[in-house]
Amino acid sequence: MNLLIIRLIIFAVLFYAGLKLFSMYRQWQQERLTQQQQDQQHHGGHMVRCRWCDVHLPEEEALREAEQWFCSSAHRDRFLQEQRSQRDNDTDP
Ligand SMILES: [Zn+2]
Repeated sequence: MNLLIIRLIIFAVLFYAGLKLFSMYRQWQQERLTQQQQDQQHHGGHMVRCRWCDVHLPEEEALREAEQWFCSSAHRDRFLQEQRSQRDNDTDP
């Protein structure tokens, strides 16, 4: 009878310790994840320059076209138009 109670207590303690460790691990994992997200927000703000107006803006807000960065679709279109007309002028006799 005594042995059974001791076994039960040991089992309960082990169970509790395992649960505690698991929750600690979960918390640590969560903290690491949010830390990573914060780091990404901090360092991920890689700045690029609009090819058309030379304005600097974060990479995720910029548009990428033909190996160039643009602040807006309007500037992208104007740059591409300019390039196209330049190419047309070059081929003109
Ligand atoms: Zn621009």
